[in-house]
Amino acid sequence: MKILVLNCGSSSLKYQVLEMGANENTLLAKGLVERIGSPNACHTHKVDEREDYKVEKAIANHTEGIKSVLDILTDPVYGVLYSLSQIDAVGHRVAHGGEYFFKSVAVDADVIEKIEKCCELAPLHNPANLTGIKAMAELMPDVPQVAVFDTSFHQSMPDYAYMYALDYSYYEKYKIRRFGFHGTSHKYVAEKACRLAGMRLDKTKLITCHLGNGSSITAIDCGRSVDTSMGFTPVEGVTMGTRSGNLDIGVVTFLMEKEGLDAAGINNLVNKQSGLQGLSGFSSDCRDLVDAEKSGYNRAKLALAKLAYDIKKYIGAYAAVLNGVDMIVFTGGIGENSDRVRELVCTGLDYLGVDFDFEKNAGTRGVDVVLSKPSSKVKVMAVTTNEELVIATDTMNIVNALKEKAAQNENDNN
Ligand code: ADP
Repeated sequence: MKILVLNCGSSSLKYQVLEMGANENTLLAKGLVERIGSPNACHTHKVDEREDYKVEKAIANHTEGIKSVLDILTDPVYGVLYSLSQIDAVGHRVAHGGEYFFKSVAVDADVIEKIEKCCELAPLHNPANLTGIKAMAELMPDVPQVAVFDTSFHQSMPDYAYMYALDYSYYEKYKIRRFGFHGTSHKYVAEKACRLAGMRLDKTKLITCHLGNGSSITAIDCGRSVDTSMGFTPVEGVTMGTRSGNLDIGVVTFLMEKEGLDAAGINNLVNKQSGLQGLSGFSSDCRDLVDAEKSGYNRAKLALAKLAYDIKKYIGAYAAVLNGVDMIVFTGGIGENSDRVRELVCTGLDYLGVDFDFEKNAGTRGVDVVLSKPSSKVKVMAVTTNEELVIATDTMNIVNALKEKAAQNENDNN
């Protein structure tokens, strides 16, 4: 089954085409359309062992962006399909499913209406995701579409974990509560790490650390998310590339007064100018900070120390939430690749039963690997994530189930 995975951002769209088999999956092509809405948008398309396609052109909106993707997928030179009819289904990454969606779903009018209702909760992302869904419905009306939500895995959190201690009426009026994000990644790496370690997910207490430009930590009890560090928005939690993470709200009101900032100004400050970028004063990129730390730049050292300290505090907190922990998993660009951050986080976790293998950790990047010693009570792993694969897998399973149901109905009618 060939699945097109679409991840529409506010001015970009990422895609992959995967051939999904019963036991094996192949990535046929992937690409990115950037600067949608501008006269010099850019479409990059990659197929393994072929020259990349990269063209700058005017792309007015997401429908045109998707048309450009469909054209290149069937191009005689760069394409991987002889006809669009080879696409069996489309899987969409959707940022926010609110309290409506506990799992991925086939898209229909009711689902679209609910995603629309969640636009208020994710004003930058959900409208773009919807544009992608509507554009596909227009361009390929007979192809089934599936929505996979960043939030749905965390819908299992108990109320005392997801509520803020605010006047309850704000929850009733606006759904002010913690939702959490990166759900597809946390779920995927939890399952993968357990499979690789020969442990049963339904009997394991896990803390998964997805560390990238955006980062979140999740406590997973027997396969269910019971708490996660991101909240109503992705700004809560640990220090991130350019996001502040947790902040005393008093700082916000203080800065509003002192700097004359309004809501948009504060939003910009805590989302775009804070985190590793704000602390270091020169980069949000973990690689730059590790290099600068080696050269003795103190603010790079501070930014890395703060990031690792935040993560360590969440690990301690979630070990308490779970009443113990069996495995800690690192993933995302930083978690998979930065031996320095993993080393900083795992130093001094021996009280918890972590016997970290510092030698094995050094230089290890981009692989699935156990980083604790065999004697360690708590296993530590780095595992590569693959959100597109989760979206494609959910899409395949939902479409297959729909087909089975349709066949069953036909049998019953005959
Ligand atoms: P996003 O949240 O945008 O998906 P990624 O998961 O790609 O982000 O992670 C980006 C982060 O990963 C950056 O801070 C980058 O510096 C870091 N990273 C990538 N490769 C390495 C590496 N080899 N060593 C350290 N950090 C790395």
